[in-house]
Amino acid sequence: MPEPAAVHYRITALDPAAHLFEVRCTVGAPAPGGQRFRLPRWVPGSYLIREFARNFVDVRATSATGDAAVGIAKEDASTWLAAPCAGPLTVIARVYAFDLSVRTAYLDTTRGYFNGGAVFLCPDGMENAPATMEIVLPAEPTYAKWRCATTMTRDDATKWRFRAVNYDELIDHPVEMADFAVCHFAAGGIPHQVAITGRHTIDAPRLERDLARVCQWQIDLFGGTPPFPTYLFQVMAVGNGHGGLEHRSSTSLLCSRNSLPQPGMTEPTDDYVNFLGLASHEYFHAWNVKRIKPAAFLPYDLSRENYTRQLWAFEGITSYYDDLALVRSHVVSEEKFLELLGRGITTVLRTPGRHTQSIADASFDAWIKFYRPDENSPNALVSYYAKGALVALALDLQLRLEGRTTLDDVMRALWQRYGAAGIGVPEDGIAALSSELAGRDLGDFFARYVHGIEDPPLAGLLASHGIALELRASTGNNDRGGKPATAATETRPRSWLGAKATGDLRLQHVYSGGPAERAGLAAGDMLVALDGIKASVDALNTLAERGAAGRRIAVHAFRRDELMTFDVELAAAPLDTAFLVLDAHAAPDAQARRAAWLGMRPATA
Ligand code: ZN
Repeated sequence: MPEPAAVHYRITALDPAAHLFEVRCTVGAPAPGGQRFRLPRWVPGSYLIREFARNFVDVRATSATGDAAVGIAKEDASTWLAAPCAGPLTVIARVYAFDLSVRTAYLDTTRGYFNGGAVFLCPDGMENAPATMEIVLPAEPTYAKWRCATTMTRDDATKWRFRAVNYDELIDHPVEMADFAVCHFAAGGIPHQVAITGRHTIDAPRLERDLARVCQWQIDLFGGTPPFPTYLFQVMAVGNGHGGLEHRSSTSLLCSRNSLPQPGMTEPTDDYVNFLGLASHEYFHAWNVKRIKPAAFLPYDLSRENYTRQLWAFEGITSYYDDLALVRSHVVSEEKFLELLGRGITTVLRTPGRHTQSIADASFDAWIKFYRPDENSPNALVSYYAKGALVALALDLQLRLEGRTTLDDVMRALWQRYGAAGIGVPEDGIAALSSELAGRDLGDFFARYVHGIEDPPLAGLLASHGIALELRASTGNNDRGGKPATAATETRPRSWLGAKATGDLRLQHVYSGGPAERAGLAAGDMLVALDGIKASVDALNTLAERGAAGRRIAVHAFRRDELMTFDVELAAAPLDTAFLVLDAHAAPDAQARRAAWLGMRPATA
């Protein structure tokens, strides 16, 4: 018999058309002086204070038989205090749920979804008490096919009743409720499920085969035994969308329906590789951040910001391994992996903010900077995902070059020493462990590329692995890098305005020190004419193709409602677009290193 729960929750899909859940929290023995209830202000994995309480439409309380009203009042934005009463005390809230993201909650006539932290109040003092939870689906016949997908422990095979050992576990098993499609596969000897909501078509056997390989590779990387009894991918397929949030034995993914594998597909499309990378990323988090955690997250304090300078490791190393797992499990080719890597390098090269902010500082300030981007972000910020992945790549290649260890070994050691042991990683833990396994002090590496603003020396490290890093100018807004320029017009020298315009010709970003900034143009300016010609996306492209560096042009633009003229001196386009080439003439030792790294056999001469 399970221990009787100290806290019981019941969540009802009250009114799907109005996007309202009713959420009840019952406490058997409320605090004699009045019971306090708190709602998290952020969700682990997404480092922004979100104030979930703003979606609580109304809150009331009853005691004993349920008909005696108990006073309840707010103490601050996310805390309620119920008046002293005899138990059981039930707090009843109506919660508005219409956020189509993986972070909060959603309810309409087609599906329901919630993260526990966005809907379940935590009674003060009962954070570590066992909890039970019951889901009540809508009763109308049109919802007859709805069921629930979650990895929370189920208590009753006939009802949607679950239990959790404490509040932390309760809110780490999001729930999808809908008439979803299900795929199944096994990896590491345990069942894996993919529940897909939203209109879509899919080559299910292909998805099952590819995900099984990726998951198995990751399980093997960490020693062969999954740290969870089962795993669930909750997939919401939409027209346009991309996002994921990691949990201890599941992940919620939002993706474009076009990114699911289609019947008849042979080579994986870019969109599908993108989906696999997202799924791989969140699965890797089941180890790296859900179990191998910064000490600052043990435990999470969901009432305020939790500061660490290590997000670069938990997101950057995960971003490095998400695509690496695809090539090492033979789901994508070596060439496709190098294309993805080239795009990642391009992203960082196009971020002048990397000369200003370190990835350690970007981690610390994620709460107010990375998660709150604005027009100046490219100039002042660096992504701890994008540059973090490149630092992880540089660290792996450096360790491989020295020959004593690899980042794979470091990850396994992090898992054994911290993750499996339930110990938080201290702020200098990854540098210390890497140095220990490398047999030398790597403090200089971390000082330069993690705590400092230097670019990691990728060209040399890649060359030592038989891969050439090439740079060229961008060929336009859709050029994400990863491939050489092909058309004749793309290989000619190009000019540069130093600003990024949206499709409606509004300047979105004006880059530090570029021609637009020097001429006085600003983000938000609406382009009217370029060199006396009506501004358009085509005109911008033509200018980039034909405008010679050093030429001066007049740019007319509206700022607020005032027409202004700017004298812009075009510059040569920066070589900020990277692609990688397998070097067929690389020395045999470099080729052998590449084969060991990417898990491919050495190329035969
Ligand atoms: Zn992540």
